[in-house]
Amino acid sequence: MTGRDIRTGQALEKYQASPTERASAALVAGGQSEVALVRRQYLESEQRFRALLESLPKVAVQGYDRERRVIYWNEASTRLYGYSAEEALGNQLEDLIIPAGMRQDVIEAHRAWIRDGIEIPPEELELRHRSGELVPVFSHHVMLGEHTESPLMFCVDVDLSDQKKAHRALEFATRFDGLTHLPNRQTFEGELDALLGSCSRQGGFLALVYLDIDHFVDINDALGYEQGDRLLVELTQRLRDRQRMSDLIARVSSDEFVLAFPELHRQADLWRLVENVRKSLRDPFVLDGRSRQVTACLGVALYPDNGLSARELIRNADVAKNRAKLEGRGALRFFEQHLHDELVRQHHLVAQLEQALDRDDLCLHYQPQVSAVSGRIENLEALLRWIPAEGPPISPAEFIPLAERSGLIHRLSDWVMEEACRQQRVWRDQGFSTQRIDINVSGRQLLHTGALARFEDCLLRHGLGPRDIGIELTENVLIEADDSVLEGLRRLYHRGVRIAIDDFGTGYSSLSYLKHFPVTALKIDRSFVHDAPRQPEDRAIMEAAIFIGHRLGLEVVAEGVENAEQLELLRDMRCDLIQGFYFYRPMASDDIQRLLGGLVPGHGHLSG
Ligand code: C2E
Ligand code: MG
Ligand code: MG
Repeated sequence: MTGRDIRTGQALEKYQASPTERASAALVAGGQSEVALVRRQYLESEQRFRALLESLPKVAVQGYDRERRVIYWNEASTRLYGYSAEEALGNQLEDLIIPAGMRQDVIEAHRAWIRDGIEIPPEELELRHRSGELVPVFSHHVMLGEHTESPLMFCVDVDLSDQKKAHRALEFATRFDGLTHLPNRQTFEGELDALLGSCSRQGGFLALVYLDIDHFVDINDALGYEQGDRLLVELTQRLRDRQRMSDLIARVSSDEFVLAFPELHRQADLWRLVENVRKSLRDPFVLDGRSRQVTACLGVALYPDNGLSARELIRNADVAKNRAKLEGRGALRFFEQHLHDELVRQHHLVAQLEQALDRDDLCLHYQPQVSAVSGRIENLEALLRWIPAEGPPISPAEFIPLAERSGLIHRLSDWVMEEACRQQRVWRDQGFSTQRIDINVSGRQLLHTGALARFEDCLLRHGLGPRDIGIELTENVLIEADDSVLEGLRRLYHRGVRIAIDDFGTGYSSLSYLKHFPVTALKIDRSFVHDAPRQPEDRAIMEAAIFIGHRLGLEVVAEGVENAEQLELLRDMRCDLIQGFYFYRPMASDDIQRLLGGLVPGHGHLSG
């Protein structure tokens, strides 16, 4: 063993001094060889200890003498604080890594430990890197030789930078949007509530603008998500550029932003700021190397008129925005209480309708279609009727779309199908054998798998044939039908079920589709019938529809015939069937039964 071997590391040598002396003293009596052995063992253990300290990449260990001068500094300390061991050794703790504000406290705490034995507890600290930046660490402190002349303090610091970073990232992710770095809905709500608090104290008013980019999905689909993201980031930047310090902005869903503008004083301020938001969209956006015009719909709600809390204001601005969407691209709508009341009413209606279904509070009325030539009743159109327990009857034109939106349409249409079949069975059993019942089938209803199979099953269960019940579909339903729906319709068609296109002329404008679809009749929309006597254009369309229908081998029905003039025109044009108030209004089944039974005299309009 050489002297050089012993003196490995100037720093450790110091703190070894006293234990080494003690070890030597204890072994004075032993032979030289024993001393050498113990020394060697001691040095080996010390080297292992050193190696351990050096090998911990994340555990920075520093040793300080009584005057807080560095006597030991491991590799991890160099990485954590930026000073090499050579640079650190001999310098004072407070000059190296203690931020100015903590300096005095650290000196005091170290002294109190040495003087009074008051330990420095382990704690989370922010210490100073050589660059001046603060480093978060968890620091443990140990005092060796506490009651001797040369007490040594060791600090064991664990770098917390990664944990802190992860924590900050997590906090960011829960409060902000990762793409635009704007606050998310929750954060915005919190901020807005605080802002509303100060608005109410100062008596000011505030505008909340809900912005929804038009056809954002199309942009994503056509150009890819990357370009969609680009648009969102660019729009965020534009909105921010126009923001005042006091304004708030957030991204609340993929293509929706909300903006709050406090400190409004006059109506003019409101217009100015709405215009300001719109200007953000005025310049085209460069996407995929091409410049594109992007529009957005805006909904505006005002504090305190349209709501007192953040949540209420956001919801009402959203209601206004949805209303704007119905008007088309780039529309602007202010929240109006009656719009909101209307939504609430619709919501109630759906709940009531569901109850009506449960309680069987619905019924079918039937409107006859008569032959234009003979006046004979050929078919009946089944029309759904709902008279709520309280209040006036509600039109199917109102509740059918609501039922479609809420998904209730499936139960509703099953009910209609079942009831129409039941009634037809009753009439057949009573000997009324000619008239067919046509039921209306909505688009959503057809999307339900097995809807057409259930229809066939229903016919079968009631012992009815394909000519007993027909169906009416609108043009748009046919255009949007997928292959499986068309397949189902074709099957019905080939089995002999009558399929009519309802409201013909109001939907899809191309006629060429007619030859592709399995239909047997056209029902000319009543708007054409209504105006035909006075409007040559409507007359021309009606005539063309009848002509085309006939050329394609279809039966043609005119809806909404209300007077003799319309009837006369239709007869001249050789329309096959007539439906309308001029002959019969939709009637309850009892009235129809009397009519079919001849208890009510038939209509005289055609006898002449
Ligand atoms: P639609 O299938 O076109 O039914 C014809 C509508 O015109 C009926 O209105 C009928 O009462 C009305 N109407 C008949 N003749 C005249 C007339 O001479 N003048 C005027 N002004 N109107 C006439 P209703 O019963 O209010 O039904 C409205 C719509 O609701 C129906 O239009 C149909 O699309 C839908 N609907 C009705 N029942 C059902 C149903 O059971 N299922 C589905 N999916 N939709 C239904
Ligand atoms: Mg119809
Ligand atoms: Mg119709």
